[in-house]
Amino acid sequence: MTKEIPKRKIPVCSPFLNGQEMEFVTEALKDGWISSSGKYVTAFEQEFSRYCGAGYGIAVCNGTMALHLALVALGIGPGDEVIIPDFTMIASALAVVYTGARPVFVDAHPDTWNIDVSAIEAKITKKTRCLMPVSIFGNPCDMDAIKAMAQKHHLFVIEDAAESHGAEYKAKKTGSLADITAFSFFANKNLTTGEGGMVVTNDKKLADRCRYFKNLCFPLEGPRNYIHEDIGFNYRMSNLHAAIGLAQVQKADEYRAMRIKNARLYQELLKDVPGIIFQKDTSDSLHVHWMNAILLDPVLFGKTRDQLMASLAQQGIETRLLFIGMHRQPCLQRLGCDSQGAYSITDNLAFNGLYLPSASHLTDEDIRYVCQCIQRTCSCA
Ligand SMILES: *Cc1c(COP(=O)(O)O)cnc(C)c1O
Repeated sequence: MTKEIPKRKIPVCSPFLNGQEMEFVTEALKDGWISSSGKYVTAFEQEFSRYCGAGYGIAVCNGTMALHLALVALGIGPGDEVIIPDFTMIASALAVVYTGARPVFVDAHPDTWNIDVSAIEAKITKKTRCLMPVSIFGNPCDMDAIKAMAQKHHLFVIEDAAESHGAEYKAKKTGSLADITAFSFFANKNLTTGEGGMVVTNDKKLADRCRYFKNLCFPLEGPRNYIHEDIGFNYRMSNLHAAIGLAQVQKADEYRAMRIKNARLYQELLKDVPGIIFQKDTSDSLHVHWMNAILLDPVLFGKTRDQLMASLAQQGIETRLLFIGMHRQPCLQRLGCDSQGAYSITDNLAFNGLYLPSASHLTDEDIRYVCQCIQRTCSCA
């Protein structure tokens, strides 16, 4: 007879606000500086870009707008094509669509689950302007291979690093690996401001263009004459959000270590359960494990993904589906984006993958409980 495990309630991913968030936000409120004019915006931009090893940071209102701004700064527009992974969050594709350009999809690599670099070249056309890899779940892409491809075809590289704050590739952090990098600080990301984003770059010209377009194309210098030469956007981040962000960056290494420790414990405890597959780290990299995603082989595991999710839900454990491939999105199909190509790796992840609870502050007991419940669901147990 199996021993009863006392039931717990574990959300899939809640934010961890364990530093000076309250203090900084309160100070901003007391000062009355609550808009984007305020010292925390500048301080957050400086501290986060420095953390990434990059020269410039431009804070914006969310990660989707950070991606859009990066594309705008590079001059991407109608008639252009941007290559993105098929296996990503919809925002990667939508940011391209907002510019008038077309997103072109490449299937995931079976091991790293990032864009399959060996399949990129076949998708490059005369219209391709940019490669936009995503470090999926915090696993850095093989940036040397991507940059070599970009150089060969005269393309820009934008990294969608919404999931990979603090990740490293060959000892360099995301944010310093591409021409321009976009981060998200949504509530469940490794570092958060509730809602927020940042564009990070080493290129002063690109940084200036981002600042210009993010603020309605008000001139960066000189007196405000209310004449606007270009179509701009209001993508500003408020001082209140930046106050949270500054407190988060101060703890970035600590939070990163927590996510990595949690992921290692999951991998250790589940390594002998048949049919559970983990994402493989890219070589020479530090994966920061935004989400603990697993891929199920239902035959070996003895249950389907949906059966496992239902069983975990009964035990108080919240899980989520992984992303559905971009080639299956009705909104993109209607724009004429590819829906017919071969995307079997993405499809397998979408149909047989799930996220396990992944907050930074999960306890070892929480993780042991989740793994015990998985083991008990497996019909091999
Ligand atoms: C979260 C995320 C985004 C979008 O960020 P928001 O802040 O929610 O707009 C973009 N790309 C990827 C890969 C993401 O995971």
